[in-house]
Amino acid sequence: MKKVIRYLRFSSLGQSNSSIEAQELCTDQWILNNNVELVDTFIDVGKSAKTFERPDFIRLQEFVSKYHKIVDYLLVDQMDRFSRNAGEALTLIKELQKKYKIQVVSVTEGITFDYEVPGNFFRTGLQFLLAEEDNINRSIKVRKGLYTAKAKEGRFIGSVPPFGYRKSGIGKQRHLVINEMESEIVKFIYKSYLKNVPLYVIKKEVYDMGFDRKGNVAVEKILKNPVYAGLLEVESFRDLPGGLFPAVHEAIIDNKTWRLVQNKINEPKGTRVILDELLPLRGILRCHCGNPLTGAPSRGKSGKYFYYYKCKFPRHNNLSAVKIHDQLLSILELITFSEKMIDNIIRGCRKKINREASSKRLKMIRQEDQLKGIEIKFTILEEKWITGEISAKTFEKWSLEYHSKMEQQRASIKRLKLFTTKVIELFEEHLDLLIDMKQIFGHASLLQKRELIKILFNNNLYYHNGNYYTSEIDESLIYKESLLKSKGLFRL
Ligand SMILES: [Zn+2]
Repeated sequence: MKKVIRYLRFSSLGQSNSSIEAQELCTDQWILNNNVELVDTFIDVGKSAKTFERPDFIRLQEFVSKYHKIVDYLLVDQMDRFSRNAGEALTLIKELQKKYKIQVVSVTEGITFDYEVPGNFFRTGLQFLLAEEDNINRSIKVRKGLYTAKAKEGRFIGSVPPFGYRKSGIGKQRHLVINEMESEIVKFIYKSYLKNVPLYVIKKEVYDMGFDRKGNVAVEKILKNPVYAGLLEVESFRDLPGGLFPAVHEAIIDNKTWRLVQNKINEPKGTRVILDELLPLRGILRCHCGNPLTGAPSRGKSGKYFYYYKCKFPRHNNLSAVKIHDQLLSILELITFSEKMIDNIIRGCRKKINREASSKRLKMIRQEDQLKGIEIKFTILEEKWITGEISAKTFEKWSLEYHSKMEQQRASIKRLKLFTTKVIELFEEHLDLLIDMKQIFGHASLLQKRELIKILFNNNLYYHNGNYYTSEIDESLIYKESLLKSKGLFRL
């Protein structure tokens, strides 16, 4: 009796369990009619027919290479179950016959592939070509449908709505609706990024706020996604153009902000600034022409070094660092945080300190318990020595050990206690330093200084004709415009 193996496949194109059952029925019938013996069945689930690298297909090949001597036929429901790539599939079934003497049978199409029968190769090949043609048409239809939905109808196509949105409606009416809570987080991400808050800080904050998308670049993806500006990115389709198209859903981020963020993301990173304590404004302060000023020391006649900021174009700015640093400090003196901002800072600090303090308090209680434990052990040791249970030498050895442990414990308790009581006191005592921008700048490290200036003036600080210029002063600050002008800070 001739022997046969069969290969059943789940197509990933929306076929279900019933499709496998139907395939089974067909092949069962053929087995019955032709009076052959079924040796094994391979079922391939889910993977696309576009490639041969499917797990069960690989098992099938292994089986064939081992048992080809006892197998005569390989049954499939349809020829295109093998592959939707006609060339690939033909090569494979040709090889099965030539190398292993196994004939492929397509049950529903009634084809038994036999390379040696005239006309057979053509018929089988045609079957494959038709399957591939079918596939191409389907893919074109899908791509055209996607293009129409996105570019012409402005519909968001995707199974998961972007963070900040949820889906509403059914069928063609299905669209994105803003999720209020999440959209606040999206706004926060964009705003912070433009204010030069480092990404790692933004990430930490948003996860605390309830951001729940996983992955290392989840926040970066939010920053790049045009969906938030009410736009959809569409791939070109044949001669129809691709690009950004207006969507039907409501934007969370205004177009201008979104563009600014894209510009910032795409900014060339090549202009690396070499940091210098004496030139904190290097690369931050800009010339009136827009170029960031560079800075360098120059040797005077006396041999002493003087520091200068200058533009790369001659005859633009060439400024004494000492002079413009002083000018900046007198400007900072006139800027302070708004009351609301100060309240926020104080509340935030108190919260952080209290959280830290209560964790330290817990730690202190644990350490006090441990200390008590050691003290008890030491008392027991003393009793043993008094009653003569242990020698003076043993007593001394253990006594030393216990004492050093107790001392360590006490020192650590003292440190913890100091924190829980003193830190809050110190903080409250020096609150006034919080509103003194000149002090803050003076106490900041070089990197902090640079960040502070960038944040205060939204990364837009220029110098021209003896004055500073800025387009924006951060909204959380208060200042008297006329006083600032008198010290040399003007608005563009
Ligand atoms: Zn310039």
